[in-house]
Amino acid sequence: MTRTIDCPCGHNLQGANDEELVKLAGQHIEEHHPDMERTDEQLRARVAADARDA
Ligand SMILES: [Zn+2]
Repeated sequence: MTRTIDCPCGHNLQGANDEELVKLAGQHIEEHHPDMERTDEQLRARVAADARDA
């Protein structure tokens, strides 16, 4: 199963599970949105709310 979530910038992230999505989202933000401060806890909440099966 694949889990997917869209960044507000339009970038689509895909991972094997929500935990991987949290990790990928953290990397994506670091690379593309360095001004966007997000804690792991916030990323987890976002993934839990918005991730869907792909
Ligand atoms: Zn983005």
